[in-house]
Amino acid sequence: MSEVLSKVLDLAKRRGIFWPSYEIYGGVAGFYDIGPIGTKIKNKIVELWRKYFIKDNSDFVVEIETPIIGPSKVFEASGHVESFTDPIVECNSCKRIYRADHLIEDILKKSVEGLKPEELTRIIKENNIRCPSCGGELGEVRLFNLLFSTNIGPYTGNLGYLRPETAQGMFTAFKRVYEVSRQKLPIGIAQVGRVARNEISPRQGLIRMREFTIMEIEFFIDPEDKDDIPLFKFSDYKLNILTAEDKLKNGKPREFKVDEIVKERIVIHPWMAYWMAVAAKFVRALGIDNFYFEEKLPHERAHYSKQTFDQIVIIGDIRVEISGHAYRGDYDLSRHMQYSGQDQTIFRKYSEPKIVKKKTLVINNTKLRDKELRKKIMELINNKKIEEIETMIKANLTIDNQPLSEFVSIIEREEKVHGEHIIPHVIEPSFGVERALFLTILNAYREKEGRTILSLPKYLSPYDVAVFPLLEREELIKKAREIRDSLSVKYDVLYDEVGSIGRRYARADEIGVPFAITVDPQSLLDNTVTIRDRDSWRQIRVNIDSIDVTLEKLFRGEDLNKIGIEVKNEDEQ
Ligand code: AMP
Repeated sequence: MSEVLSKVLDLAKRRGIFWPSYEIYGGVAGFYDIGPIGTKIKNKIVELWRKYFIKDNSDFVVEIETPIIGPSKVFEASGHVESFTDPIVECNSCKRIYRADHLIEDILKKSVEGLKPEELTRIIKENNIRCPSCGGELGEVRLFNLLFSTNIGPYTGNLGYLRPETAQGMFTAFKRVYEVSRQKLPIGIAQVGRVARNEISPRQGLIRMREFTIMEIEFFIDPEDKDDIPLFKFSDYKLNILTAEDKLKNGKPREFKVDEIVKERIVIHPWMAYWMAVAAKFVRALGIDNFYFEEKLPHERAHYSKQTFDQIVIIGDIRVEISGHAYRGDYDLSRHMQYSGQDQTIFRKYSEPKIVKKKTLVINNTKLRDKELRKKIMELINNKKIEEIETMIKANLTIDNQPLSEFVSIIEREEKVHGEHIIPHVIEPSFGVERALFLTILNAYREKEGRTILSLPKYLSPYDVAVFPLLEREELIKKAREIRDSLSVKYDVLYDEVGSIGRRYARADEIGVPFAITVDPQSLLDNTVTIRDRDSWRQIRVNIDSIDVTLEKLFRGEDLNKIGIEVKNEDEQ
């Protein structure tokens, strides 16, 4: 583990951002509690995501909430029962189990994502990869299903699964949401919710967990409708993309304008580029600038995906997927239609009605009075397509020595058609909340003169401002509490009156509070306080009555020095 990573894990524990769950029982790998400070930051990240993905797209995106547990049929239909697997390999000696592809990647330093178990077994044997724990020989690689199963209700056999993604809730509710909303494509259904994956080797804090929160959109489109996509919003916006083609040539990510991504058909559908641009803006708003989109090769993609781009964030020597962008096509709705027997199509209305020639089957009832003969004919034509019956007639098929054409005929009529039924296609941008939280914190981690600063974007800080009385003196405490109370109406305020001011500043810096207001003896004389900046540790002195306006300016990003008179900061110890 890198040095910074272990420092961040230590900070997270010490300051109540997150820590391993069930610590008093020794902990269980892959489960984390999000602490009081972490919960505040996490909620702000989720709200920021809602702003970028839902509020800014409220013409066509709605949010819903669906259950965490679903009946097995749902996950049979979605393909997860069959395909939501990762490869594992067991040590023949100590019986330890490893995630086979990760083990190989750690040792050979090359990607083997998506390779079949037989291929992984061969690589292990050829490279003589042995158990990292005891040096023993490794067995054959096999697949392990990551679904957590449970039983629904008191009856055994009523199998259920914990959802591994929120997506199936949106697919199974699609028709209802469509009917209660705009009844028009495109329509995005968003959800923020817990998911569970029985990961084989959870690792690196919040990066690979067994239970986590996903924020995702299932965006339902008409695949043929490529107009009216508000791409103009991003016309001068650039994204770094590693295309599958470049990847095969060991190339590097290249910069593309959003328009070019569409024109050069790097994405299957222009809406993919739209959501990737939104994701880029969102990740920048987390304070993270170093990222690119990596196209997955066919064998690296999930079973439902026709095209996938992972958004990869780079922080120091850490490289992690923060979001996935999958073109799921009509896979999910078609499968649910097949498994539930319920129509999942929507009606695509033509701009003008079309005249189409339609073949209709006509049954000559006057010649079919004989019950036995009628039964034979019906059995013959039942469940057959009209073209098949036409072929039988043309082939002069006979029934009881009489030609089939005596009893049935096909006529062609012109009909006015107003539209057709289609199964919408789906684009899915999907973010892990805890992973976003972790990467935001890792990215904001700074050290200055041996102390830690969490340099979070101001709007993601757990508190907007801290208020401290310099000393534990009654008059100072009274004034500081008054300021706290008046600011609390508008701001999230951290108030602390205990311990040395240096330690209180240090704590505020470590959890990322951008500004600290201190009430000192001078405050009682001239009604002023100091405002200290988290990142530079510079301080200005302002009148108590102008704290609110000053904070507004500071939150807008104005320079501290231009707002008030800088004062010497002597309280850092
Ligand atoms: P996926 O459906 O696998 O593309 O996952 C969607 C997003 O969820 C990823 O981009 C990650 O941000 C996050 N994620 C996936 N697996 C985990 C995990 N085991 N622990 C934490 N976050 C995860």
